[in-house]
Amino acid sequence: MMYEKGQRGASGCLVKVGDVSFGGEQLVLIAGPCAVESRAQLLETAVAVKEAGAVMLRGGAFKPRTSPYEFQGLCYKGLEYLAEARQLTGLPVVTEVMDTRDMAAVAEVADMIQIGSRNMHNYALLKEAGACGKPVLLKRGMSATIREFLFAAEYILQQGCSEVVLCVRGIRTFEETRFTMDLSAVPILKDKSWLPVMADPSHGTGDARLVPAMARAAVACGADGVMLESHAHPDLALCDGTQSLSPEGLARIVCEMRLVAEAVGRSLPMPISVCKEGEK
Ligand code: PEP
Ligand code: MN
Repeated sequence: MMYEKGQRGASGCLVKVGDVSFGGEQLVLIAGPCAVESRAQLLETAVAVKEAGAVMLRGGAFKPRTSPYEFQGLCYKGLEYLAEARQLTGLPVVTEVMDTRDMAAVAEVADMIQIGSRNMHNYALLKEAGACGKPVLLKRGMSATIREFLFAAEYILQQGCSEVVLCVRGIRTFEETRFTMDLSAVPILKDKSWLPVMADPSHGTGDARLVPAMARAAVACGADGVMLESHAHPDLALCDGTQSLSPEGLARIVCEMRLVAEAVGRSLPMPISVCKEGEK
């Protein structure tokens, strides 16, 4: 299998997206809103998450919503705003694609393509993603086994794409939380594959109050970074507001994760906003 350890040589485990390296000593923080809601919302949030320490911006233009009556995303307009947010902040952008018909348009704008949990088993989409020419962030299906997850990655790798990053995001169990944060999957995936592994405690818990603890734990158990939902005004979010952090909350978590990172031989830069605060 192409995902297996040993298939990429000793130094081959880095996945690069612009200046961002997944799988190196420095952890990667991806942050941004669940959904791109408007130009103003995205630009304000993008600037704020950069100040709070994010090195990549997330935001869904095409949203996989449980109810067809909920906000479905701004679609192509959302892609335009993401391109503008990158221009403004310099942050590379990761965004989800749900339909093979949108792949070319999303790949034209995105620096990294996201395959969401609900589409991890969509083999036609995985193959298109593998052939689109951009790195891919593959999220674990909420009911997928590790084997199924790794085979999904294999579908992408098989198309000649060698830039695949895995992301655990919680699985279905009988917990009180939205999902159960599948952190034991991190060392398992690291053991079985060379692929970098991210963790998404926002979807993994569904509750912003639980996100700091799970973000620290993700770093402690060897994740190569975290993806966190953050919104300039979480109370006003059209999607996943309860699990979204304020930019201040995000900066606090980054400071906490830094301490854990040091303890496990990794690093994470201090947020710009905290450095400015210290200079005052
Ligand atoms: C997301 O990250 O925007 C998302 C919808 O997450 P998931 O696919 O893990 O539910
Ligand atoms: Mn979300």
